[in-house]
Amino acid sequence: HSSKLPHLGTSIFTYMSGLANQYNAINLSQGFPEFDAPKLLKQGLAKYCDQGFNQYAPSSGLAPLQTQIASLIGRKYGVDVNSKDTVTVTSGATEALFVAIQAITHLGDEIIIFDPAYDSYKPAIELAGGRAVHIPMQAPDYAINWPLVAAAITDKTRAIIINTPHNPSAKTLKQADFDELKALVIEHDLLIISDEVYEHITFEGTPHISVLSDAELFSRAFVISSFGKTFHCTGWKMGYCVAPETLTQEFRKIHQYITFSSFTPAQLALTDMLAEEPEHITALAPFYQHKRDVLVNALQNSRFTILPSEGTYFLLLDYSEISGLDDMSFCEYLVKEIGVAAIPLSVFYQTAPGDRVIRLCFAKEDRTLIQAAEKLSAL
Ligand code: PMP
Ligand code: GLN
Repeated sequence: HSSKLPHLGTSIFTYMSGLANQYNAINLSQGFPEFDAPKLLKQGLAKYCDQGFNQYAPSSGLAPLQTQIASLIGRKYGVDVNSKDTVTVTSGATEALFVAIQAITHLGDEIIIFDPAYDSYKPAIELAGGRAVHIPMQAPDYAINWPLVAAAITDKTRAIIINTPHNPSAKTLKQADFDELKALVIEHDLLIISDEVYEHITFEGTPHISVLSDAELFSRAFVISSFGKTFHCTGWKMGYCVAPETLTQEFRKIHQYITFSSFTPAQLALTDMLAEEPEHITALAPFYQHKRDVLVNALQNSRFTILPSEGTYFLLLDYSEISGLDDMSFCEYLVKEIGVAAIPLSVFYQTAPGDRVIRLCFAKEDRTLIQAAEKLSAL
């Protein structure tokens, strides 16, 4: 019988991490921290397992965790969300994205995504019977061309998926982008899926602008975040979705049949973490800004052109002065011959623009970053 996703292979993250292991290279490809999760979180997990909290959580999440999430949103964005009716705990942002997309996409609907796009959006849209409409953004600034977005809207357009801070470009959306977005979603009555998993990682004091802080935008949005990024625990696969009550009802209808609920001991441990160590989150931006600067400084004498990183834990490098190889071949060369694994940007595009750009993850120990930069500087 025929494949439902005929053009899809194995994800680039599986492929590159596999090569990194095979060639014993420094793995700056797949995005995950090299440092451990906070002690309170790990001890909480052990404690709650031991105390017997090993059965299903409520489908929408444990109430104390929903409350802590609402309180974090209140502190950070100054808005009051109803934790019970708008916050749903999910098994990672990936599940939240998948569920939100299923919840709104009818057969033949068009969903606008921006290339380079995080790789899980398009398959989720297609499995829901929709069509991803790609708006390209290009090096070096990866700015959204809003007239292009306006021109791509048809009577089948249902939603726009945004991601800020943006993986892989490391750019943040500005107020002017949100003004453009707002005008379009109001004019054409569109929904928004806002992937904000790197919301706490912005640099130079650039505030993260959340859809949550604009009532008009939020009234038509699913806002998605991930504890994996925030608490260095990507392997826990814990995240959440915040959406207005009516959208949340639709979201929960699907969430209850994808996973029903998420890992109970982790929900309890995360509740304590949010309540007892809120400073972990406020320290995250300076923590990662230091990492970014270590890597940027160590690459200063290389022949790469370093693109600005405004947020996330990624840095883009243009290698056009070093090699004429396409970016996939260049990354295969890097991992096999140079000992550093990176991600080629073209995999995030429907139509690769031919930029010679790779992505490095700097969620690593300083010495790892310096070692990788030494290898890259020899090119
Ligand atoms: N969206 C973006 C932009 C991401 O970078 C990631 C993590 N790589 C996710 C979603 C998925 O997050 P999670 O691991 O919580 O499923
Ligand atoms: N989000 C991570 C990245 O961009 C990888 C997630 C995954 O491996 N699926 O590198």
